[in-house]
Amino acid sequence: MNYEQVIKGNLVLENDVVKGSIGISDGRVDRVSTDVKLEGDAVKDFGEKLIFPGAIDVHVHCFSNPDEGFEKTTYLSAKGGVTTFLDMPYDLPNPVNNTDIFKQKVVELEKEAVVDVGLWGTISKKKGTPDLKPLIEAGAMSFKMSTFETDEYRFPKIPNDEIIKAMKTLADTGILVAFHSEDDEIVKSMTKEYQETSKHYNLAHTETRPPYTETSAVLKLMEFAYWTGAKLHIVHVSHPRTLDLIKMFKEMGTNVSAETCYPYLLLDKEDLEKYGPAAKMNPPLRTKEEVEGMWRHLKEGNIDLISSDHIRWNAADKERGHGNIFKAPSGLPGLEVIVPLMFDAMVSRRDFSPSAFAKVMSTNAAERFGVAHKGRIEEGYDADFVVIDPEKEWQMSADMLDTDISLLPFRDRRIKGKVMETIIRGRTVFDGQEVMVESGYGKFIKGSGTV
Ligand SMILES: [Zn+2]
Repeated sequence: MNYEQVIKGNLVLENDVVKGSIGISDGRVDRVSTDVKLEGDAVKDFGEKLIFPGAIDVHVHCFSNPDEGFEKTTYLSAKGGVTTFLDMPYDLPNPVNNTDIFKQKVVELEKEAVVDVGLWGTISKKKGTPDLKPLIEAGAMSFKMSTFETDEYRFPKIPNDEIIKAMKTLADTGILVAFHSEDDEIVKSMTKEYQETSKHYNLAHTETRPPYTETSAVLKLMEFAYWTGAKLHIVHVSHPRTLDLIKMFKEMGTNVSAETCYPYLLLDKEDLEKYGPAAKMNPPLRTKEEVEGMWRHLKEGNIDLISSDHIRWNAADKERGHGNIFKAPSGLPGLEVIVPLMFDAMVSRRDFSPSAFAKVMSTNAAERFGVAHKGRIEEGYDADFVVIDPEKEWQMSADMLDTDISLLPFRDRRIKGKVMETIIRGRTVFDGQEVMVESGYGKFIKGSGTV
């Protein structure tokens, strides 16, 4: 058998790494073999490098900063080895809470993206549930809601009665309902008190969002999901006690999954103190001991997946927070760096297997969100890969990254493991130096819900 294309190297499969070949036809994996002599019209041998299923990042914000968008964001994603991401619905100026806006966004995506992208939907603060099923028919991958109000129109706190309605509506669709989970009242009142007494040093951000603002919000949602039968997902878990609670509720029959973002494993509140605005995110960074608790849960399999919560602010926006942390916008970029940073932290430093890395960076995301034909190196799956050189050591510098490194609180870190190539549906989209495809190569990935 002669394949259109054959890729050789150390293949990261579900339970093992094997030296072998992948036969590819029509952008799909046709054969996975331990035979290193598979033949093809085009053969690429990656030698000792590791070939992973392309990373899938379920949590990205392309349009919270109007200067960004699909083109710039997917470009970073290609460079970072993230072959598919799901874009959040809290866009400026309008959130994605009806099918007109959703369909418009799909048109833009298909024109501009260089990696594959699925879309989140959301609902308005009141009377939004009738929009849920039409959005599923339009292809929404999942729904994001919040217990914390960032903006009444764009990023509202959904009242309890509306959450119950939404959960009931979604229960039989197979579609996830995900929450930003922080207690609005406690955070708002503590922040006000701190600002009134001029306590606006860097650590004030963590102090005004104590762990119980997260744990209590998550508890309520898990109880709601238990009674409604909804498929719940908690985004950006920052604290190990939240994971204790999620584990307990899973055991008691709630359908709930946990996501954390790479900063909650790699940084702690000392980084917030040191870097200030660049290390400001919601929920905030926690103590060193609490971060170790997150790692213990990752080892035990209690974190389903790791995302970036990528948002690229302009450096000038972050600058506003020097001297008063409350003035800086929250969040940091990640698409270009999450794969090497997590590879370094998990595989190079902490003894996780490459297969365990693939699971939380790709496979579990595809399964939980219903991203069809992605997340594994297996026959019938899309030929989406990220190739990593596990021995290559490097350090972030301005000339190496397209992300402004002033936005990344990892500047002094030596990183072992580097993205050498990114392949989507059989085609090299990043060759280690340049992005190789035109805008529009990326495809819209439709959700797999039923109404
Ligand atoms: Zn987010």
